[in-house]
Amino acid sequence: MLGIAGVSFPAEEYLKLYHGKTDPEMVEMLSQCHKCNAHGPDVQLSRCSLCKAVEYCSKKCQSDEWKGVGLDLKIVGNNPHKRKCAWFKRAMEQLPEIAAIQQLFPWSANVKGPREMIQIPNQIELLLGLKGEGVTNGYWREPGIDNAIHDSDYPLRTLSPAYICHGSMFLEPVLPSHAKAWKLPSSQIPHLEFEDSKLKSRIPALHNNDFVQDWTSYYAWRNLDRESPVALRMDMVLTVYYLLTKVLGVVDTSKGATESRRTLKIHFVGAEKELNIIPLFSELALLIPNTDIAMTFFGQACKKLCDVAKVKHPKSLANRSTVFEYTAPAALGGSTLRVKINGQSDLYDSANIALDRPDALIAENAGLFHYMTWQFVYHYAARAGIPWGITEYHMIEVLEYEEHMVQWRDLAMQGVRIDLTNNLNKISREEVAETMGRLSRVQARGAGLNPFMRPGLLCSGRGSLDPRACNGFVLRVC
Ligand SMILES: [Zn+2]
Ligand SMILES: [Zn+2]
Repeated sequence: MLGIAGVSFPAEEYLKLYHGKTDPEMVEMLSQCHKCNAHGPDVQLSRCSLCKAVEYCSKKCQSDEWKGVGLDLKIVGNNPHKRKCAWFKRAMEQLPEIAAIQQLFPWSANVKGPREMIQIPNQIELLLGLKGEGVTNGYWREPGIDNAIHDSDYPLRTLSPAYICHGSMFLEPVLPSHAKAWKLPSSQIPHLEFEDSKLKSRIPALHNNDFVQDWTSYYAWRNLDRESPVALRMDMVLTVYYLLTKVLGVVDTSKGATESRRTLKIHFVGAEKELNIIPLFSELALLIPNTDIAMTFFGQACKKLCDVAKVKHPKSLANRSTVFEYTAPAALGGSTLRVKINGQSDLYDSANIALDRPDALIAENAGLFHYMTWQFVYHYAARAGIPWGITEYHMIEVLEYEEHMVQWRDLAMQGVRIDLTNNLNKISREEVAETMGRLSRVQARGAGLNPFMRPGLLCSGRGSLDPRACNGFVLRVC
């Protein structure tokens, strides 16, 4: 049952929606008090009747969370449920649409068991036998989670020597072939080169009139069967396309090939997993005809990759100024893509804008309010007037954004430190206030569900039923 907006989704219904069946273990995992985490057969839970997203074991827990008891409400981001309830409700209204995206793909039905519930897309990859830590896993490679580090961790952590780089295919002098890196049958791959006579029939049409708008039209344009799992990686690429064209509006593809050649410069900030699939960004050259596209990746993982390349892999691609290039066939508009990986610094700097002004900033699954270093990027982008689009896992975080910006502005105006001071800070308090004031006048635009989210719902768990998805929700930050 798909339900309609506003209908309640108890754990059983939720599971039926995504798995076609319920599993007692999963129901238990989802059934916890949102305040105190109490769960088990003796715990009677009741749901917030307004948002239907959270459950409580008692009237006291519900009332405490409603008022924000135990939270320092002066801290930005600490919102009582009284303020969050409406956001939860709006997030719950997205569930049917998210389920519909997942149900487009036959492989998404194969997931079962409580662990899978937490990380459905990852588990799909494991079930399909695609994911792994080794370099031979190509585009499906994912370094072990224990060794991974999040960009923008604050204060900046020192990377352990055991840290496995993202983007390790660039530690070699040549890249694996597209087919080898996909590890899929030829019929399931969105090919980039079409010289081979066997691939002539796979060449897509010149991209015209914004034809590619969602996964259905993308698969149709690429002549791919929905059995192909490429949506589990192409989300990172098509999301950039969506942010550029629909959320930020920095490039217009509604007319197809333009008469005159245009350029498009993108700074991708906080890159991590995206470094493992860089050649796939060639798709942008197919989707945006007659354009010279330059993409530069920034972040802690980029610096780490370049540091390792310098010391241990002198002949590797990562040591080159341009690490990847692609030219689309002339019949598809002949666009080019040139990719750089910036290994200069862990942090994005205003000099990056001054030296090489981008048309847009992009960050995926950003965690805007979880990593304080994003405030530097805010500051630089807002002051320079550069559009910045991001994705978040949670709809709620996208909805909280405006609220937080207003709070930040107020705090800055009062001269309150907002973690932009200390030894990392190169920005004066006055500058902070000015930027925050400007940002508060920029309304969040284009916020909402990303039609190119990674298929497969991630469950919030811990007594909260609101949806979460990789690249799930888009937001224009400035
Ligand atoms: Zn409780
Ligand atoms: Zn509520």
